[in-house]
Amino acid sequence: MKGFIEDFGAEAGDALDRFARNGVSRRDFLKFCTGVALFLGLPGEMGARIAEAAAAAKRPPVLWLSAQECTGCTETLLRASHPTLEKLILELISLEYHETLLVGSGKQAEEWREKSMKENRGKYILVVDGSIPVKENGIYCKIGGKTALALLEEMGTQAAAVIAIGSCASWGGVPSADPNPTGATPVHEIFKSKGIKVPVVNIPGCPPNPYNFLSTVLYYLTFKKLPELDDQARPKFAYGRIIHDNCERRPHFDAGRFALQFGDDGHRKGYCLYKLGCKGPETHANCPIQLFNDVGSGAWPVGTGHPCFGCTEKGVGFTKPLHSPAVVKDLTPPSLFTEVYPGKEGVSPGVKSLATGVAGVAIGAAGAALISGLGKKGDDKEDKGE
Ligand code: SF4
Repeated sequence: MKGFIEDFGAEAGDALDRFARNGVSRRDFLKFCTGVALFLGLPGEMGARIAEAAAAAKRPPVLWLSAQECTGCTETLLRASHPTLEKLILELISLEYHETLLVGSGKQAEEWREKSMKENRGKYILVVDGSIPVKENGIYCKIGGKTALALLEEMGTQAAAVIAIGSCASWGGVPSADPNPTGATPVHEIFKSKGIKVPVVNIPGCPPNPYNFLSTVLYYLTFKKLPELDDQARPKFAYGRIIHDNCERRPHFDAGRFALQFGDDGHRKGYCLYKLGCKGPETHANCPIQLFNDVGSGAWPVGTGHPCFGCTEKGVGFTKPLHSPAVVKDLTPPSLFTEVYPGKEGVSPGVKSLATGVAGVAIGAAGAALISGLGKKGDDKEDKGE
């Protein structure tokens, strides 16, 4: 990693000109970098430093390997409707190899991949989307005559760092759902089994939020190291809290107001979706605050009226039945201590949230038993909402 930073951080590029040619003004670029700083939980002034690093550094080479996936991770990156993101992502990094986006194909593409790997050995970021099939020596996914398993080993050992983007690369995702016929395996497990020491960052999501990916790359460019990770190798700035902590429906959970069926009165009023199987209480992600597609509030699954299905949490998304009740692990107060009954005097919002939260869990647990017909019955622990 040291070589990567020294080589590319020292050479001043001409990023601002490149951005300008692509319709991104200096002002927009600085605004964007300030937004990234705040998103990372840094003071706004750090935006200037991020801008400086992004503009001064030679674009870091990125090779992108797609295995068992649906192309949703690439789609989410390219279809972000932020006015400049798609331009910035292509101007900030040097995307050397990406099977979906390359103009060339076949022999030409594979020769380019090998050339780029040789020239940037030990300095490139490898992004992997999709899970890696390992059954029968990985024959279920082949690219240019090589298995994805062999390609991951070849490309991974020569990378500076690896970003496993999406739930498939992070946890196994859809292809690993029971009975996992291809032996779909996440990147970090392959590295562990083969003794590959290159650091792996997981950016789970189905699809992942593109800003979580871009901010991780920008952090790396600016501070010459990876952002702080949690015990699942996810950046803490994006996956540090559970969805339940920041959900706009949380006051309804705390007050014991739940939708019981899709389309019922509670559902139409925007009540909490816990009893419809929302996995927000056990899923770490920033979906409620970062949202998707830059179209304003409500643009995330729970915002549109569908329960969170836990795609960013190992052992929840693609593992638990969609409508089975979530395990409420930590009854933390919501981030904003929203007033449940505005205007009424009494206990403080914090105490009230906690108290009504306990009531919410109890009611939720009772509801879980009532809706057991919607999914698996769940064990005693789940039914008690523990
Ligand atoms: S259970 Fe789901 S819908 Fe209800 S408050 Fe928590 S995250 Fe939001």
